[in-house]
Amino acid sequence: MTAPRPVVALVGRPNVGKSTLFNRLAGRRVAIVEDVPGVTRDRNYADVIWEGRAVSVVDTGGFEPESRDRLMSQVREQAQLAVDEASAVVLVVDGRDGLTALDRNVADLLRRAGKPLFVAVNKVDTARTEEDVPLAEFYGLGFGEVHAVSAEHGRGVSGLVDAIVEKLALPPLPPAPEEADEPQEVSEAERPVGDIRLAIVGRPNVGKSTFVNALLGEERFVVSDVPGTTRDAIDSLVAHKGRRFVVTDTAGIRRKRSIAQKVESFSVVRAMKAMDQAEVVACLLDATEAGVEQDARLLGLVAEKGKALVIVVNKWDIAEREGATQDWYRKELTKRLPFVGFAPMLFVSAKERRGVHRVLEKAARLVEQYRARFPTPQLNELLEALQDEHPAPIARGRRVKLYYVAQVAYAPPTFVIQANHPDGLTDHYRRYIENRFRAAFGLEVPMRLVFKERQ
Ligand code: GDP
Ligand code: GDP
Repeated sequence: MTAPRPVVALVGRPNVGKSTLFNRLAGRRVAIVEDVPGVTRDRNYADVIWEGRAVSVVDTGGFEPESRDRLMSQVREQAQLAVDEASAVVLVVDGRDGLTALDRNVADLLRRAGKPLFVAVNKVDTARTEEDVPLAEFYGLGFGEVHAVSAEHGRGVSGLVDAIVEKLALPPLPPAPEEADEPQEVSEAERPVGDIRLAIVGRPNVGKSTFVNALLGEERFVVSDVPGTTRDAIDSLVAHKGRRFVVTDTAGIRRKRSIAQKVESFSVVRAMKAMDQAEVVACLLDATEAGVEQDARLLGLVAEKGKALVIVVNKWDIAEREGATQDWYRKELTKRLPFVGFAPMLFVSAKERRGVHRVLEKAARLVEQYRARFPTPQLNELLEALQDEHPAPIARGRRVKLYYVAQVAYAPPTFVIQANHPDGLTDHYRRYIENRFRAAFGLEVPMRLVFKERQ
């Protein structure tokens, strides 16, 4: 399953709506990145499932054009990078502006790459605007595929997605295997697990550098200390118990920043990027500082992104000396951060190098769960047993019946449950189903349950 996902790149001059389209495609709302002044996003990746197919979308925009002279070459550079890496390219243009010289120029460059090309004519917000937009001009680029869209309102976007999926002939994600093997123990022998991408995040001073140094050895920060480095995160390869981990961390770099109050926002931006590429995130907390909004904000992002998460409570050496117990800490944290209640919590001392490698072992187990396929018969047996134990509520005089469940995606595991009238389900009953699914499969990763009305 770890075949690389095809990359679909969004290319175009500034302000045509690339990042709006990116967010729309990635199923996200406003990217936090944009809230931080002065941050130039060079790339923005998202892994998405479209129509049961997995792809990565990359938004190549986000730079501030240095000058009008530089604009052309910057857009071209971005476009070149995109075509080198991408399986398909979407040239985004502004339908209101019509075709500009810069659009044409980029189109020429793209055409030479010989990759599937699409034009998204953006800001076509209504059927009426569509009449005013010179679509013929855009067809004149010779890409064949021209789609009028409104990134802001979602209009036409699914047509674009359908066309890309079709053109790339993407295979659907493999269905859940039918044989009833032990789902909670997806063994290595059956499933070749590739490199595990682990992102280390946390607010400043929780001990990220110390932690990463303990994992990797002291010498590695030499590179990142080079002044003027523009890298957002550093990837390092670690082998542990026969597994390879690509550890992405954002520590160390900010040390060279001089403007103290910018530190926090920068670390959030970088954490976001590091997370985007990871399947599993280790979020470090400081046991000695009951904290804080920043922790909650980071963890909220992880939850929103649906990544596997291990909460690493660092500086436990100090907390322990002061008499804290793990049980107490666990309870406190669950109370404050209920939205990451699914995540396991480990207590470590990066400074004393205690417990550090357990984080890798946990990450490996989480990734197995995250990628696991659950057999349909077993899912349905469970669904039936749960309803026998607690029938679903009665709404509008009819009992809600859950008929059938199947896993439709993994990473995170996503299940669709067909019901007669799912709108009659209470939150309480939904939680019951979710909790029992978790318990039955030993799931400590995020999961998604979608209730659908059976046609
Ligand atoms: P980028 O520089 O290409 O990434 O462009 P942005 O996504 O930042 O969008 C530039 C501007 O166009 C923003 O003000 C968006 O709100 C606006 N915009 C983007 N998509 C649409 C759209 O579909 N319709 C309209 N009316 N405005 C849009
Ligand atoms: P970062 O900003 O998240 O990279 O944090 P650092 O790794 O720079 O650590 C911040 C401070 O916490 C440093 O003074 C570290 O020595 C200290 N520190 C980090 N981990 C531990 C730990 O496990 N125990 C103790 N007692 N101190 C730690």
